[in-house]
Amino acid sequence: MIDNLIASVTVIIFNSNRKMSISTTPTTKEPNVRAGVEDLMKRRFFITPAFQIYGGVAGLYDYGPPGCAIKANLINFWRQHFALNEDMLEVDCTALTPEIVLKTSGHVAKFADFMVKDEVTGMCYRADHILEAHVEKLLEGKDVNEEKKAEYKHVLARAGDAGQEELHQMLVKYGVKSPDTGNAISAPYPFNLMFQTQIGPSGQLLGYLRPETAQGIFVNFRRLLDFNGSRLPFAAAQIGNSFRNEIAPRSGLLRVREFTMAEIEHFVHPDRKAHPKFCDVATLKTNLLTAEAQGTTKMVVEMNFGEAVAKGIINNETLAYFMARTQLFLHTVGIKPERMRFRQHQSNEMAHYAADCWDAEIHTSYGWVECVGHADRSCYDLKVHSEKSQVPLVVFEEFKDGPKMVDTIDVKMNKGLMGKTFKATAKEPMDFLDSLSNDFEAGLTFKERLDTDGQAVINVNTNQYTITKEMVTLTKTQKKISGESYQPHVIEPSFGLGRIIYSLIEHAYWVREGDEQRCVLSLPAIIAPVKASILPLIGNAELAPFVHRINRLLKEAGISCKVDDSGSAIGRRYARTDEIGIPFGITIDFDTLKDDTVTLRERDTTKQVRIPISDVTQTLKQLCENNSTWQDVVTKFPAFESN
Ligand code: AMP
Repeated sequence: MIDNLIASVTVIIFNSNRKMSISTTPTTKEPNVRAGVEDLMKRRFFITPAFQIYGGVAGLYDYGPPGCAIKANLINFWRQHFALNEDMLEVDCTALTPEIVLKTSGHVAKFADFMVKDEVTGMCYRADHILEAHVEKLLEGKDVNEEKKAEYKHVLARAGDAGQEELHQMLVKYGVKSPDTGNAISAPYPFNLMFQTQIGPSGQLLGYLRPETAQGIFVNFRRLLDFNGSRLPFAAAQIGNSFRNEIAPRSGLLRVREFTMAEIEHFVHPDRKAHPKFCDVATLKTNLLTAEAQGTTKMVVEMNFGEAVAKGIINNETLAYFMARTQLFLHTVGIKPERMRFRQHQSNEMAHYAADCWDAEIHTSYGWVECVGHADRSCYDLKVHSEKSQVPLVVFEEFKDGPKMVDTIDVKMNKGLMGKTFKATAKEPMDFLDSLSNDFEAGLTFKERLDTDGQAVINVNTNQYTITKEMVTLTKTQKKISGESYQPHVIEPSFGLGRIIYSLIEHAYWVREGDEQRCVLSLPAIIAPVKASILPLIGNAELAPFVHRINRLLKEAGISCKVDDSGSAIGRRYARTDEIGIPFGITIDFDTLKDDTVTLRERDTTKQVRIPISDVTQTLKQLCENNSTWQDVVTKFPAFESN
C-alpha cells in the first residue's frame, strides 16, 4: 500500500499568504520506505536514542543537528503561520505542575491507559495493544469465516476505546497471553501516564511533569484577558515539552515519553463561534472521515470547509477555521495532501463536555497517525479551575445598547444563626445562598420551597444542610445591570511536533531511479535543515576565496549553508547533501575565476543554472521563503549542463 501511495505525483501546495508553488516528487523505487528512513535518520544523526552509551531508555530520543534544524524550522514556521498571523498571545509556562492543577483538570483521576502484567515475569503491556496483536493474528488464520472476520474487525475497532470491564472480557474471551512468554496475564487496570514528583525538599508538595501545555494557558486566563484589553475572542499559544509515561513507547518518534507540543487555546463567546476570517478558507477542499462514516461506510468524503460547516458536519466556523489553517500548515511543511485527512471523534472517544473533535491524521508506513487534535472543549477547563481556585475565570461584556433591568432574588441571611447552627462548615451553605442572587431561576425555585415548607435541604460537597426560613429572607426584585459575565468556550488545536517531523520525513523520502544507494529527502526549502551547500569543484587554492565569500554572503543574509570541500567526487558530495534534504547546491569551478558566476543546482530535478555570484543571495532568499519557484529561476538564468 505504501508503495502505491508514494507513486509519482504532482502536488499543488497552497500557501495561504504567498503565491502558489508547485513541487514535483519523483518516483521512489524503495520497497521499504520505513527501513530506509530509519537507516537515514540513524546514519545522519537526525535523531538518536537518548543516553545510548548506557543502553538508552525506551521512548526517549535526542535530536541531532539535521533533526534539530528541521524542528527549529517547523517551530519558526508554526509561529509565523499561527501565532503571528492570528495575533495570538504566546506564553511559556513551567513544565513542573503542582498536583492541584492536574487534579482539577481531571488528569490525576483519568489520564490513564489500561495495563496488564505478565503473572510470572511482571512485564507490563498495554491491554489494548496486546489484544489487537492477538486478534490480528486470529484474523490472518486460514479457516476464518466471514462471520468471525467481522467479529475480529469489530474487536480491533473497539480495543482502543473499550473500558476496563469490556477490555477484560475481550482478553478472557480470546485467551490472550503474555506476548513474550505465553504466561497468563493479570486483569487490566488503569495506569496513570503522568510522571509524579515532589516540589521542594519537604516532600509535602506533590507535582507532575505536565502531560500537555494547555493547563498553563488556562491558569493564566485572567492575565491573558487583561493583556488583551478584556476583549474576546483571542487565542493564546504555547510551544513546549510534555511528558507522558507511555506503557509501551514504540514506532520511533510516534509514541515517546517526552515530546514537543504546540498548542493553541482560542477563547470565544459560547454562542458566537462564527470566525471573521472563515471566508478565507471556506472554499478550501479537505478530506473528512466523519464519526458516522466510521460506523458505516468507512468512506472519506472530500468537501470544502464551508460546506462541512453549513451541513453541520463540523460543529462551528471557528473549529473549521483552525482545521483549515492546520491543513495549510501541514501541506506547506511537506505533508502530501493525499496522505492527510481529518477524522472526527466518535461519541464514545469524546469527553462528555466536548462539542466536537477532529484529529488531523497523516498516513505513514505505520498507518494513519493522529498528529494534530482539534477540539471544541466548551467551557470545561475554565469552569473547573474557577470553581477550585475561587478565582472567577470569566469575561464581563457591557451591553451594546446600554444597561437593562432584570429580575433577581435579593438574599438576606441571618449569619449569626447560620454560624451557630452549622459551625465550622457554615461557609458552605452561606456560599450556596449567596449564589442564588446570580441565578434567578434557581433562586426563585428555592424561595418557593422555603415559602411552602418553611425549610429546604441542600447538599454542598458531601455535606447536607437544612435551611429554615429563619436563616434567610429571599425577595423577588429587579436590578439594573450594565452587561453580562460569561465563561468563554475554548477551541483547542494541539500539535505533536515529533509526529509531524517523522511523517514529513517519510513523505519526503525517495530513492533515485537506477541508483539504490542514493536516497533523497525532498523537504520543502522552508523546512530543510540547511538551505544550500557550497561545493568547490576541486580542492584548489584558487577557488577557496570564492568559497569564503559566498559562505559569508549567505550567512549575512541569514541563509544556512554548509561547505563541503572534502575533495570527494562532486557526485558523492551532492548525494550527501541530497539525503539530508539540502535543496540547493552552489558549485564553484574554474569558470568562476573568469566571470564571477557559479552553478546553482536544485536537489529534486538535479537541474543546474549558471548564475552570477551577485544574484545568488537574493535568488536563494526568495526560494527559501516560498516567494519564488525553481521554475522562475530556470526561466531567468541559463541552463548549465555538466560535461
Ligand atoms: P492529545 O493531547 O493526546 O490529544 O495529544 C495531542 C498531540 O500530541 C497528538 O495529536 C500527537 O501529535 C501528540 N502526542 C500525544 N502523545 C504522544 C506521544 N506519546 N508521543 C508523541 N506524540 C504524542
